[in-house]
Amino acid sequence: MITRESRGTQPPTARATPAWQQALARAIADPETLATRLGLSPEALPGMQSAHRMFRTRIPESYLARIQPGDPQDPLLLQALPDAREALESPGFVSDPVGDHDALAAPGVVHKYHGRVLLLTTGACAIHCRYCFRREFDYADHNPARDDWGPALDYIAAHPDIREVILSGGDPLSLSDTRLARLAERLAGIPHVERLRIHTRLPVVLPERVDDRLLAWLGQGRLQHILVLHANHPRELSTPADAALERLRGTGITLLNQAVLLAGINDAAETLIELQEAGFRLGVMPYYLHQLDRTRGTAHFEVPDARARELYRALHARLPGYLVPRLAREIPGEPGKTLQAPSSAHD
Ligand SMILES: *Cc1c(COP(=O)(O)O)cnc(C)c1O
Ligand code: SF4
Repeated sequence: MITRESRGTQPPTARATPAWQQALARAIADPETLATRLGLSPEALPGMQSAHRMFRTRIPESYLARIQPGDPQDPLLLQALPDAREALESPGFVSDPVGDHDALAAPGVVHKYHGRVLLLTTGACAIHCRYCFRREFDYADHNPARDDWGPALDYIAAHPDIREVILSGGDPLSLSDTRLARLAERLAGIPHVERLRIHTRLPVVLPERVDDRLLAWLGQGRLQHILVLHANHPRELSTPADAALERLRGTGITLLNQAVLLAGINDAAETLIELQEAGFRLGVMPYYLHQLDRTRGTAHFEVPDARARELYRALHARLPGYLVPRLAREIPGEPGKTLQAPSSAHD
C-alpha cells in the first residue's frame, strides 16, 4: 500500500529527523575512535576492545566535549570507557542483581513496589554506562512497545492501586516524542493514574534531546510529570546540559536527580556536595544516591558500605537537609529501596 507519507504529502517538518536523533546517530561507537579523539594510550586498546565486545561503546559528542582529553582518570570518561576489568568475575556480582526478571507482572511491567509500576520502554540509551545494572537485561523478550503497549496498559488499568507509572529502560527518552506523547495520553486515560515519572539520562548526556516537541507534550496533559535525571558528577551538569535543564524547568515539571556512588568517579564528599549544589542551581532536587547494584563486570566501581556511610555523614554535616539525597540500595524482594542510615553501629 502506498501511504500518504511515502507519497510525500506530509509537511517536511513532520518527516525531518529531529536534530537529537541525528546527534545520537553520530555518537562515538568504537574504542579506536574514542582513544584517538581523547589521546588515550594505545596500550589500553585491547582491554577496551574486549569490554566493547561484551557491551558496546557509546558516547555522544556533547558528552565527549565535557571530558578532559589526555586524562585517563577523567570522572566522566570512566563512566563510559570500556575497561578490561569488566571481564573479571567477582563473588556476588551477577547478571540480574535487582531481580527484575522475577517481578515482571506483564510484558515490560515491573510491579515490585506499592502504588507504582515500572514500564520498561526500550533497551536503547544515548550513552552506555559501564556500571549499568541492565547491561545484560534481555529487552527483546520484555518489550511492551512491541504490542503497542496493549498488555502493559491493560495491566495498569486493571490495578486501581497504581497511581504512578515510571518509564524506565534503557532510556525512555530514546523513543520518539510521537510515541511518548501517545503513551502519555493513553496513560492519562486511565483514571487512577495520577503521575507519570520518567527516569532518563538523556537531558544530561544528550542535551539536544530537550527540544520543542519534548517540551510541548511534557508541559501538558492531565498527569503530573516528574523527570528523574541521572547525573553522577557536577561536570555532567555543565554546558550544554545546563541550558537543557533550564528549558525543562520552564515547563514547571518536577526535576529530580539520582546518582550512583562510583569508585574513582564521585566517591569524594566535595564532588557529591558540588553535584547537589550544581543541580539545585538548575532547579533539580536530589533524590537517590544509589549504592551500586552488583552486576557482573562492575566490581571495580563499588564503594564499600562503610565509606558510603562516611560520605553520607559528610553530606548531612555540610548541606541543608533538602540537598541531601537518600542513600539507598536495592535488595531483591524488599517492598521498596532500602535506605541506609547515615550512622550505624557497624561503623
Ligand atoms: C526504583 C524502583 C521503583 C521506584 O521506587 P521509588 O522509591 O518510588 O523511586 C519502582 N519500581 C521498581 C521496580 C524500582 O526498581
Ligand atoms: S543511561 Fe541508565 S540504563 Fe542506560 S546505560 Fe546508563 S545507567 Fe544503564
